[in-house]
Amino acid sequence: MKPINDTVEALKPSGIRKYFDLANAMEGVISLGVGEPDFDTPWHISAKAVESLEEGRTHYTANRGLLALRRQIANYYRNRYGIGYDPESQILVTVGGSEAVDLCCRTLINPGDEVIVLDPNYVAYEPAIEMAGGVPVRIELTQEHDFKLLPEDLETAISERTKAIIVNFPSNPTGGVMSREDYARIVPIIQRSGIYVISDEIYSELLFDGEFCSPANFEDIRDQVLVINGFSKAFAMTGWRLGYLLSNPELSAQLTKVHQFVIMSAPTAAQYAAIEALEHGMPDIEAMRREYEARRNLLCTRLNRMGLTTNVPKGTFYVFANITSSGLSSDEFCVRLLEEQKVAIVPGTAFGESGEGFVRISYATSMEHIKEACARIEAFLAPLQ
Ligand code: PMP
Repeated sequence: MKPINDTVEALKPSGIRKYFDLANAMEGVISLGVGEPDFDTPWHISAKAVESLEEGRTHYTANRGLLALRRQIANYYRNRYGIGYDPESQILVTVGGSEAVDLCCRTLINPGDEVIVLDPNYVAYEPAIEMAGGVPVRIELTQEHDFKLLPEDLETAISERTKAIIVNFPSNPTGGVMSREDYARIVPIIQRSGIYVISDEIYSELLFDGEFCSPANFEDIRDQVLVINGFSKAFAMTGWRLGYLLSNPELSAQLTKVHQFVIMSAPTAAQYAAIEALEHGMPDIEAMRREYEARRNLLCTRLNRMGLTTNVPKGTFYVFANITSSGLSSDEFCVRLLEEQKVAIVPGTAFGESGEGFVRISYATSMEHIKEACARIEAFLAPLQ
């Protein structure tokens, strides 16, 4: 048989999966590895999808998605974050934030273009860049600087070939957040260089301290920013596969072309559920956020007490714990913790080279599980220290 596409052939499977496969094969494992809410979708949201099916609304929607949903998204971004997007020409409803990442890469990248990513970063970015023919260029983020993007590092990373940068704050895996002041320092560099900013804001609602800021809040670079968001994390809707992409009208038209040929339109029942989520789901978000915050506080206190120095994350449902005091590499730590104490977490290296010395622990699981996992991690560390 003929060889398949070289880039696909060379892709490594996600470093997260390996641990799930190991954990699934064992009994009595507590998993703090997953990147999805443990809550079910609030029923009033699901009910609207059921209703849409009962009424026979089982057809394609417009390529961009239902106009009623796009109007809700526009209201939401305007009221919540102070950024206006026209529902007719600037909003595209996608199959999760995942499709949106892929669309951005395919629409912007020419072969050989460089795209800056932050290291550590979400596992899907680099494969999406590479599959579009681009070259990822990494900027290392450090615990010392709270895993923020610093202007001097951005300046150094930009070359003639740079097409875009992908940012994700609050960040998976670090929980790091960029404030308005942090962004203000990099905005002039973005403006001067003319590069695009792909801003993955999927965790914008899972913020515990301070106010969310998007690079699109800065008028000077608004047209250079492509905003990705979705329903998976905020509304506990991972299985519905619904997200959206906000951009200037010209870009949005191009992104919609790609979406049209690859997807046609996002799932119809999910779009009806999403309208309900934005219209009446804000109290649900608040209840879930309060619960995540209590879990975060407990987990961080316990980890720091064990000598695993952990910056208290300002957002998401992950902590990025420094495990260097154990004397183990990230991979050894995770494999041995799973084998010896049956706790599944993810090595920082699954998210990039600078994740060495860290592990990602998800607290999208019950308080009881978190407490039991902490007791097991403590037992695991005792003979090592
Ligand atoms: N971006 C980030 C940073 C994520 O963590 C995830 C999910 N793990 C996604 C995008 C994709 O989410 P979805 O496709 O479910 O919207």
